[in-house]
Amino acid sequence: MTGLAVTEPAPVFRQIPGQHRAIAILAASVAHPVHAYLFSGPPGTGKREAATAFAAALVCPVGGCGECPSCRAVVSGHHPDVVVVEREGAAISVDEARRVAGLAQRTPSVSRLQVIVLADFHLVDRAAPALLKTIEEPPSSTVFVVLADSVPPSLVTIASRCVGVEFVPLETSVLAATLEAEGSTPTVAAAAAAAAHGRLDRARLLAADSGFASRQRLWRAVPERLDGTGATVALLAEELLSGADELVGVLRARQAEEMAQLEQAAERLGERHVAGRAAIEDRHKREQRRVRTDELRAGLATLAEAYRSRLASANVPPRRLAELAKACGAIDEAAAMLIRNPNEALLLQALLLGLGAASA
Ligand SMILES: [Zn+2]
Repeated sequence: MTGLAVTEPAPVFRQIPGQHRAIAILAASVAHPVHAYLFSGPPGTGKREAATAFAAALVCPVGGCGECPSCRAVVSGHHPDVVVVEREGAAISVDEARRVAGLAQRTPSVSRLQVIVLADFHLVDRAAPALLKTIEEPPSSTVFVVLADSVPPSLVTIASRCVGVEFVPLETSVLAATLEAEGSTPTVAAAAAAAAHGRLDRARLLAADSGFASRQRLWRAVPERLDGTGATVALLAEELLSGADELVGVLRARQAEEMAQLEQAAERLGERHVAGRAAIEDRHKREQRRVRTDELRAGLATLAEAYRSRLASANVPPRRLAELAKACGAIDEAAAMLIRNPNEALLLQALLLGLGAASA
């Protein structure tokens, strides 16, 4: 027993599936928050959504009803006492850290607290010492919510000053149920959930993508199509890459929708611009990059599976076994290299050329 389960989470927390433990900690903290929380866990597991919900609960007059003007302002990104700090470059800069220090000293304008959400904190890099002091001793009316995909050694000191809230990869069944509740058919929900590797953002994207099933077929068919020629390899690599582009196209459409909603919200409030537009556009670009890499990695996993199923089948001669095992190793290696931003076409072509011998 953790003793946390006695607090029924406020309505604002209901939109975050599969993170019962994290939500229990947050719900129990609303009445008497400490100065800093560190949400850690893989991307797409609900950290950002949970940060919004927690911030809403902290500034809502009744602890997170989800319906009052305060709660709605937090969700639409327009509450004066809730600030989301997005990094502007590849890492959080020292200048940004100084700006955060300044923000932390502000007095809340309409609520008893102000909440500062720091996104992508695993990329804090050289700004870590500058932020440590700010996060360690903010004024009592400031609460930090720090989001990090992981806690690298440079962040251990800061992490030790925060209440840790861990986000776990979501169970496939939770992903599927969430997609179904959002309107997907059971078949689409099951397939998208299975290929999402515990991430709700990816599951949602795949569920909205009509090309998902045909892309999986394309990757699975690679071993049969390889004929040892460079021409086939070039054609296959092109098809596989344009499949990833298709998914990025689906994401772009969603992002355009998000921006349109923010524009409408800004207009309703009589503001001429979307607050933090450049940072949002930067985030969108990063998401596109990540979706592309994730999609290629998922495709490579499908391809490796195709080879592994051949490995597992009976009556494979020993020489062929060695070839298949080597193919699986080469695919895993290529998947690992994708993180380092390589020339994707060259990487795929080299992989497929090497697989040629093993595919017959
Ligand atoms: Zn409220």
